[in-house]
Amino acid sequence: MPVTRDTVLDWMRRFAAEMEEHRQQLVRLDTAIGDGDHGTNMVRGMRAALAKLDSAEQADTGAVLRTVAMALVSSVGGAAGPLYGTLFLQMGSALGGREEVDLEGWAAAWRKGLEGVRARGKAEPGDKTMVDALTPAVEALEQASDLDAALTEAAAAAERGMRATIPLVARKGRASYLGERSKDHQDPGATSTYYLYKSAAEALAG
Ligand code: ADP
Ligand code: MG
Repeated sequence: MPVTRDTVLDWMRRFAAEMEEHRQQLVRLDTAIGDGDHGTNMVRGMRAALAKLDSAEQADTGAVLRTVAMALVSSVGGAAGPLYGTLFLQMGSALGGREEVDLEGWAAAWRKGLEGVRARGKAEPGDKTMVDALTPAVEALEQASDLDAALTEAAAAAERGMRATIPLVARKGRASYLGERSKDHQDPGATSTYYLYKSAAEALAG
């Protein structure tokens, strides 16, 4: 089954619900190594995104993601709003006006989104950011041979990437101000990125 506009809408609704459900966890993680607002930021942004999606019909897969991107950028202060905004904007532009997206197109869109995040935030893998969850997940998509399995494998890879941030010393974002003291904490942005992939796998599974 290809990814359609309805899959993308379902994905965004599921992601918004994950942010509501895990708001406290994200706040707790960001309180340990940042300023404690990541859960609140993501909830605010995804509420704004769903309101936009409800107010106007979106023509295709790319349009849904561009709308979400705009809502995030305009409603979220802090690093994650513009970074997630860039991810969705770049994915949306890679998908263009497509109504159905196959595995190759989906992996290419994620690759473009990841490159956008890296260009904007200048984080490398290992810097203890959302890039550490995104990178292995995008690689899993690129190596997979069918779409359903791809999304499940990508979510598992994102989860491993998220856990792998625990021993790292942060080199980007607010957590980097802590230096060595940022060790032994899971990165909040890598955690929300895992939920993004989990939601995508669930949306495709239906
Ligand atoms: P802020 O840090 O401005 O309070 P959030 O708390 O919402 O914003 O988001 C923090 C998350 O953003 C971090 O956990 C990290 O994953 C991600 N992040 C911060 N800076 C960067 C960066 N330069 N590149 C990639 N991700 C980053
Ligand atoms: Mg924060």
